[in-house]
Amino acid sequence: MLITLNNLKTFIETFIKDGRSVVGPVKEDNYSLYKPLKSFDEVNLSLIYPTKSTKEYFFADNESILTYSWTEKNKINITDPKDPEGVVIFGVRPCEAVSYPIMDKVFTWDYNDEFYLKRREKNIIISVACEKCDEFCFCTSVGITPQTTEGSDIFLQKTLEGNYSVQVLTEKGKTLLTSLSSFIEDRDEKPIDYKGPDKKFDITQIRSWLESHWDEHPIWAKITLPCIGCGVCTYLCPTCHCFDIVDEGNLKDGCRCKNWDACQFAMFTVHASGHNPRDTQSKRFRQRVAHKFDYYPDKFGRTLCVGCGRCIRHCPTDMSLLNVLITIDKPIIKLLNR
Ligand code: SF4
Ligand code: SF4
Repeated sequence: MLITLNNLKTFIETFIKDGRSVVGPVKEDNYSLYKPLKSFDEVNLSLIYPTKSTKEYFFADNESILTYSWTEKNKINITDPKDPEGVVIFGVRPCEAVSYPIMDKVFTWDYNDEFYLKRREKNIIISVACEKCDEFCFCTSVGITPQTTEGSDIFLQKTLEGNYSVQVLTEKGKTLLTSLSSFIEDRDEKPIDYKGPDKKFDITQIRSWLESHWDEHPIWAKITLPCIGCGVCTYLCPTCHCFDIVDEGNLKDGCRCKNWDACQFAMFTVHASGHNPRDTQSKRFRQRVAHKFDYYPDKFGRTLCVGCGRCIRHCPTDMSLLNVLITIDKPIIKLLNR
């Protein structure tokens, strides 16, 4: 199946006119993000990645999970939030789409997180295969390619003629496409066969080294020296999912809020006693790497990183997760083993 660029524009704009919420990759002054669209003309498909991921459309950065108010003495009204509206997310890159099934594991593990799951059920993902990468991309090192379709409802791949081949992957995608089938042509063109970045490290070696070096190792202090614990890497990452629950309000009314949190923050693991088991930035960075490449695969069978490179591209001190992984994979690290 095929859709021309003009038909793709009309396809997306038909949703917008129908009152559906559609978000897509938009370039702002110094950054880019997935933003609600007013028109297809705002979409910038030449971006390798928007600065911010689509995570916030599934796992809100800040949301009220209940509100409360005192009506009279000893009586409290508790109100649940409204169900979220579903959005059509257009222009998602393949590695980012893989982040949704990876995050499903933790949000359905010991507790079904209904705030996340309702959005997962309603949101529709239209992904577009990559045609280029930069020096920060490493999807192929974590088992993903520019043509990976996991996590997408509809997958588009640019053809040599400049149109898009269309793959429908889920019932949600099928329903969406059926309503607008007049835009789709029943013919094929050869898609651009982009191979993606070269493989940069061996993920099994990384995991095996981490398994035996979860404790102190001189390499951590050395390689994490530039990290200032700002948390940008975790907030931009499509797979980081830590949050905190806080009550905000006063004696009359208020809300219970779920807010993003980050293992890179100095206060993240401070105990009530004042003790902090991760009292240095190197321990906090080690935790981030070990969680993504050892603990999460161990518990859920998936690496908690899709190789999008955002954490490297936008780190204010040029810390590079990729360089850390390459360093761990290097034979030299074996010489430092205790
Ligand atoms: S690695 Fe970079 S972005 Fe992440 S906490 Fe450290 S300084 Fe901030
Ligand atoms: S850890 Fe970095 S490269 Fe991996 S998914 Fe998160 S932002 Fe992307």
